Amino acid sequence: MRITEIFFSIQGEGKLAGVPSTFIRTTGCNLRCTWCDTPYTSWAPQGDEVELDAILDRVADYPTRFVVLTGGEPMIQPQVVELTRRLREGGYHITIETAATVFADVVCDLASLSPKLGNSTPWEREGGRFADAHERGRLRLDVIHRFIAASADYQLKFVVEEPADVREIETLLADLGDLPPENVLLMPQAVSREELVARSRILAELCKPRGWRFCPRLHIELYGGQRGT
Ligand code: SF4
Repeated sequence: MRITEIFFSIQGEGKLAGVPSTFIRTTGCNLRCTWCDTPYTSWAPQGDEVELDAILDRVADYPTRFVVLTGGEPMIQPQVVELTRRLREGGYHITIETAATVFADVVCDLASLSPKLGNSTPWEREGGRFADAHERGRLRLDVIHRFIAASADYQLKFVVEEPADVREIETLLADLGDLPPENVLLMPQAVSREELVARSRILAELCKPRGWRFCPRLHIELYGGQRGT
């Protein structure tokens, strides 16, 4: 499996924010978000092939049973299903982080689904050469439905840049059907503490009347979003 890093930190986002966790970060992504906070897995992917046994050995080194499988887009890795099965055999709690554009029949305790809004499309970056493909591929309602149906628990996590993004989220939720609002999370688009602070309070106010959950980004708050955090 193509891996860019395996590290121990705290979960910075979502329902399990604050839980010490081991992160397995695959490299390679089928999308190209303009604000991607891990460009070393998408725009300029780095990493090596690592055997599943070696991944499991590394995971066993850390003092937590919580594992987060993230990327890049882990669902495009050919061995992703087998990795989650082996993690389950090892007794780990598994979170998968995915943009939910590619379905894989993984084993997980929490499916963290992060459909990408229009604010992600790279119209300017690298002369816009990925924009059309990204725009065509960024939303797959059928895949989101499959993950929700197949998972013990899930969260829908949206990266929000400005209040106008909420209209797009509401349209998407209407298309997805009747989902519990507490499973809808708004997360500020930020790669620095300054951006995080500037957007957090605005997002909290957007969440309150809708019953949505405000999603912190503790790894940026605590560590400035450095790699390995
Ligand atoms: S889906 Fe995730 S990893 Fe891929 S480009 Fe977007 S933010 Fe980056």
